[in-house]
Amino acid sequence: MKKYSHAWIAFMAIKRLEVIATTTDEKVISGVSDKVRTEAKALVKWFKNYRDFVIKGAWYPDDVFKDMATSHIVKYRPAEDGTYNTFGSLPSTHSIYTKMSKESPLKGKPYNIEGGNCADRCEAVSHSIIDNFKMLNREEKGCPIATSGNHIAMRFFILSHYIADCHMPLHCDCRPYSDGKGIHGGIEKKWEDAISKAYKIDKDNNRFFYDPDGYPLPLTASPFTTNVEKEIATRKYMHGWGGKNNNVWDYMSVVSQYSYLFSYFLIPEDFENTKSMKEFETDTEWGKYFEMYSTMIFSDAIDSVARIWLHIWIKYKDWAKV
Ligand SMILES: [Zn+2]
Repeated sequence: MKKYSHAWIAFMAIKRLEVIATTTDEKVISGVSDKVRTEAKALVKWFKNYRDFVIKGAWYPDDVFKDMATSHIVKYRPAEDGTYNTFGSLPSTHSIYTKMSKESPLKGKPYNIEGGNCADRCEAVSHSIIDNFKMLNREEKGCPIATSGNHIAMRFFILSHYIADCHMPLHCDCRPYSDGKGIHGGIEKKWEDAISKAYKIDKDNNRFFYDPDGYPLPLTASPFTTNVEKEIATRKYMHGWGGKNNNVWDYMSVVSQYSYLFSYFLIPEDFENTKSMKEFETDTEWGKYFEMYSTMIFSDAIDSVARIWLHIWIKYKDWAKV
């Protein structure tokens, strides 16, 4: 994913948190505790102080860390004698998980993991955010070892990048769909073009222009951006990690498993990265229903970012109360 796609996902995760905090739609919030909703509201209020840093933060891993070949991916390959054959569970609202549980021919079949540590990275950054919050809370204002709200917000946006990348099916697929080139680059360009046209971006100052509610100012919506916005406003929120998952690492590991299944579902086994976008559009499941599958990927990514952020925030708040 490219710069504004990442920034938009992070911003939409804030919007999703606001939906969780304020909606009156019982379908969305049935089963969500008052505590979770109260903390979602507090987190949105906190984020609004730092929204100008969304683009810079969400793009920081590609721009500065340059750990794309390791931390933005988990590379799976089906293998008859593979080391693994288990697949975890996710909240039933995760659309890729639900679809692949029913429809993937590779579900339950053995596989190998040949590289990447995206789930580890997500777990590590999550810990660092909680630690930094605790230090900010404990130390005196201006004390040189204390961090700042700005810095922590940057880390949240950085974290959103890794979470989003794991939802991009090609980031979890061992076939040589190298980042930025061929159909991988073509798909990401289609997303970036749609998002760049859909919102007014203050490119000189590296931030979005805002609507009266403080979210990216709409310009020319595409079916894709409209559908994602609709989905995050109406999807049921489930705060739990799903299945036996107990933390960010467990959750993101399972996300990567279903991203892998989705990639093989969307693109035929022998479809080469060097093929044209025209061939992608006619010869792959993904190309034929591009808007629909892209909406699933982005909506799941946004929901996951909101869920992980909220768990981090509540973990810190619980500590602060003791
Ligand atoms: Zn990336």
